[in-house]
Parts: sequence; C-alpha cells; structure tokens
Amino acid sequence: MNTLVIACSDGRVAGCLESLLREVGHPNANRMLVPGGLLLLTRPGSERRVALACVREIVEAHDVRTIFLVAHQDCTAYERALGGLGFDQRELLERDLRRVKTLLETTFAAVDVHSYMIPWCENGAGAAYGPAVRID
Ligand SMILES: [Zn+2]
Repeated sequence: MNTLVIACSDGRVAGCLESLLREVGHPNANRMLVPGGLLLLTRPGSERRVALACVREIVEAHDVRTIFLVAHQDCTAYERALGGLGFDQRELLERDLRRVKTLLETTFAAVDVHSYMIPWCENGAGAAYGPAVRID
C-alpha cells in the first residue's frame, strides 16, 4: 500500500486509528507508531533527523503518496515533553499538525499529507476517545 500513517504508540488510540484507516480505505497502510506521533518531527536536531530518516525509508521503499498524520488529545508523550499540564493541548496539536504537514510536503514532493485529531470526549456516560476528525 502506498500510504503511511504517523501516529502515537499509545494503545488507547489504537482502535480509533484502525477505524480511521478502514474509513479512508487504507487498512493496510504502513505504520510509524512512536510516542507522541508527530512530536519527534517538531523537535530540533537529531530527534527530527532520525524521525525524518524513518519516514524517508518508508516513503521510498513503498512509493508512499499519502501520509495520514494523526494526533490525539490527552497525549502523555506531549505532556512529558512539554513539562506537564497548563497548556491548551488541542491548540498546540493543531499547530503542530500544520507545521509537520508543511515539513513533510516540502521534504517529500510527491506526498500529500492528511491531518487528523483523535479527540478526548467527556460526557454523561464517561470519557473516551472519539472518532478521528480531519484537521485542515
Ligand atoms: Zn500519545
């Protein structure tokens, strides 16, 4: 399959991720699952270089034309990297989704990036991750 999903390794969002990939018709997309997902691609220096080298390996080996970039709310990796709570995670994640989309589309000219957010939803029945929503 000439698609790739970059997302967080957090098992709590695995079901939402699989649902999204079925919904967009790419259940067999290549997967790059690391803590924070796109987080490494926002970091300076060697972290970003290594993450980009991994993306390049998958893109070149599988002739990837579409990357699904998926962030999720209540991300422990983001909280640890940014020093705990006290920031609007949704706003920050949406900003990072836009930045990393630009980075990937600039680095890999043949690739289109589709960005998604998996929201943390609280209601009368409790709290859970909801279906991924497209972010543009
Ligand atoms: Zn996470």
